Amino acid sequence: MNDNKSILIIGGGVIGASIAYYLTMNNCNVILVERGNICSGSSYGNAGLVSYANPKPMAEPGVIKKVIGWMLDKESPFFIKPRLDWELLRWLLRFQASCSEKSVKHAINVTRAMKSVTMKLSEEFTTEEKTNLYWEKKGRILLYKNKGSLETGKKTLDSLKQYGIDGKIMDLDGVLEMDHNVDSSVVGGIFYPDYEHVLPEKYVKGLVLMAEKKGAKIHTETEVIDFKTSGKQIERVVTTRGDFIPDQVVLAAGCWSPMISKMLGFKLPIQPAKGYSVTWKAVESTSKIPISLVDEKIAISPMGEFLRFSSNLELVGYDSKINLRRVRAAQSRVEGYLNGIKDLDLVEVWRGFRPGTPDTLPIIERNDNYDNLILATGHDMLGMVNSLVTGKLVSEMINGEELSIDLSPFRLGRFW
Ligand SMILES: Cc1cc2nc3c(=O)[nH]c(=O)nc-3n(C[C@H](O)[C@H](O)[C@H](O)COP(=O)(O)OP(=O)(O)OC[C@H]3O[C@@H](n4cnc5c(N)ncnc54)[C@H](O)[C@@H]3O)c2cc1C
Repeated sequence: MNDNKSILIIGGGVIGASIAYYLTMNNCNVILVERGNICSGSSYGNAGLVSYANPKPMAEPGVIKKVIGWMLDKESPFFIKPRLDWELLRWLLRFQASCSEKSVKHAINVTRAMKSVTMKLSEEFTTEEKTNLYWEKKGRILLYKNKGSLETGKKTLDSLKQYGIDGKIMDLDGVLEMDHNVDSSVVGGIFYPDYEHVLPEKYVKGLVLMAEKKGAKIHTETEVIDFKTSGKQIERVVTTRGDFIPDQVVLAAGCWSPMISKMLGFKLPIQPAKGYSVTWKAVESTSKIPISLVDEKIAISPMGEFLRFSSNLELVGYDSKINLRRVRAAQSRVEGYLNGIKDLDLVEVWRGFRPGTPDTLPIIERNDNYDNLILATGHDMLGMVNSLVTGKLVSEMINGEELSIDLSPFRLGRFW
């Protein structure tokens, strides 16, 4: 029940934005503090996928072997900077533990439950709201150059049918009918019609604007630097622009959440997982349907006047350097699948940090250490996909409503 107590959200990425949106829909008194501008973290330059067909997490049997192979290749999509970092080591051990068949099955079930809530929530937006959020349903083509990988893709499609997910298998001619830019070296593809995507910046800013219209107070350039606590209560949130005295605090600061939890005296097992994107100005002939280059771990997203590819996962701590060799290697792989890329004008090369958890599931809970703290962080590779369900769940928690899904898979305690 809403008694109009004040709720302060830390972080103006997609997660903070969605929480602000659902709380204000429930007439809550919301304050959002963001140390930079809205959507300036990982939510800015990502691939914009808000739905997916394959709910398999990255942690799965066999992935460790692949990772070791990639580590030896300076142009591969994956890299771990070798260093003595106990937090990283602990994280990697937990990641390894999450690669069992049992953990993967668990993650698939949890992800599917989140997906079904997300689908219902996305239907609640009006057509006009979806246009403002730049929300599109165009499906996704998975492209293959390797016949063996295409066969694996077909098996995945077969296994997804039990969940009601269908797709269309195509040879090169079929692929070319959908996208004439595809190179003739491609042997085939699979089209999944149910994929939806957004232009991330428009989506996040759109949610914040809707929250602001319903009364949320948005404070940008406002960094949380400390807290005053008393027992199990956060009494004061200290920021670079003065103190706030909220009744509830929601931590939604993405990969920077561990720094904030440290101020509160507890740890979060989140590693920044750096990724890159390259955005070009689209022209009339550019691809119109999102594409996945499965073997290359690259997503290509048409976003209105832009075309973007995103790729790579580097565990290098908070080192924000752009490794141009890896970006160029990824770009040349894109050029090997799609013709005409070389002629496009560059808009931006970007790097961002996914808030990575060892089992790829987020941390969403009322925290044990403080009665008035909710954690909504660690969304890993699926923060856009799981944004609506997270916002809804936090609003349900705060308003004492029945929860859309069981929160036990998201408890922080699962890692200890
Ligand atoms: C290359 C790439 C492609 C991706 N593609 C997809 C995709 O297609 N679909 C998908 O679902 N996910 C994707 N992701 C993952 C997705 O981007 C993240 O899961 C998501 O953006 C996390 O959102 P967030 O709000 O938790 O974090 P962020 O967007 O990083 O927001 C956290 C905010 O907290 C603020 N903050 C930090 N510290 C403080 C402080 N002390 N005080 C105040 N504010 C603070 C930061 O400035 C930041 O704005 C991708 C990620 C990458 C890198």
